[in-house]
Amino acid sequence: MTFEELQEQIVSMGEKPFRAVQCYEWMHVKLARSFTEMTSLSKDFREKCGNRYQYTALNPVEIQESALDGTKKFLFALADGNMIESVWMKYRHGNSVCISSQAGCRMGCRFCASTLDGLERNLRPSEMLDQIYAITRLTGERVSNVVVMGCGEPLDNFDNLLRFIRLLTDEKGLHISQRNITVSTCGLVPEMYRLADEKLQITLALSLHAPNNEKRRELMPIANRYSIKELMDACEYYLKKTGRRITLEYSLVGGVNDSAQDAEELIALAAPLGCHVNLIPVNPIKERSFVQCEAAKTAAFKNKLEKNKINVTIRREMGRDIDGACGQLRRRHVNETRR
Ligand code: SAH
Repeated sequence: MTFEELQEQIVSMGEKPFRAVQCYEWMHVKLARSFTEMTSLSKDFREKCGNRYQYTALNPVEIQESALDGTKKFLFALADGNMIESVWMKYRHGNSVCISSQAGCRMGCRFCASTLDGLERNLRPSEMLDQIYAITRLTGERVSNVVVMGCGEPLDNFDNLLRFIRLLTDEKGLHISQRNITVSTCGLVPEMYRLADEKLQITLALSLHAPNNEKRRELMPIANRYSIKELMDACEYYLKKTGRRITLEYSLVGGVNDSAQDAEELIALAAPLGCHVNLIPVNPIKERSFVQCEAAKTAAFKNKLEKNKINVTIRREMGRDIDGACGQLRRRHVNETRR
């Protein structure tokens, strides 16, 4: 609930409106795990709330810490037993959390572990928020950046995503700046337009992964629905509406999308809109035969982009030793449980 909705509920229970201020603070600033913890509220009132409303508090089932870089990966259980994963990364500029937006995913990208078993269900706004709240409680450190790049396609859960962003950036809550939030999409064109019309200051990252329709269709089924031209038009609209530059994510797959010709085609797409390009060394999953692009070839690809004045970064691989890539930890856990 937004603050206003919460207030309405609390007043309808016959309580004073300022109880909503306290309750909201317990949830979104003090990060309480239950109504019981809200000790400045009367016991009576807390019990009434407990009987009327479900309180979201994710249960950490497994926490892995990378010996390489301190990255932590969390497997959380939802109230209905579904599992989701989130990642905590420490950077010089602050702590970043990567959250899931759905349990599973129905987009079917060929290289991604999140989608192998399809979609279980959408996450509720509270279940997205509590990944950040739970990690803040568990690490004892403030989160400054949030990326919606875990399991799921965030724009396939559009309304809940929007509500989540509004709550996360609310000045009465954790008050994370919109500029410190990145939402990554495989390219749902109608929702990209809808998001642009919201005029948020978040960063939109588009998982492009191939510079033309033929290659993209081999990697991502969604490319059969929307062409690269339609995607780039949506990106242009987003830029116009929000003034925010788009990031193009490009997972380099050895022998698939890493040639000089691919780089040239990518430049032609990125240059007109001044897109930032984020190269991701593909993280091979055992269910598929994709391999990483050689280091020298990766460097050559990056150089070619830079020579053409494209702003490009190679994503640092973090948590390679702890099932770091999308959906790997959740999948391992689900498989072990089945066995
Ligand atoms: N559904 C959204 C967000 C989740 S994935 C999207 O498609 O953008 C976050 C990013 O990681 C996407 O760019 C996705 O394509 C990429 N990704 C998924 N599995 C990967 C893997 N095994 N190796 C490299 N990148 C991967």
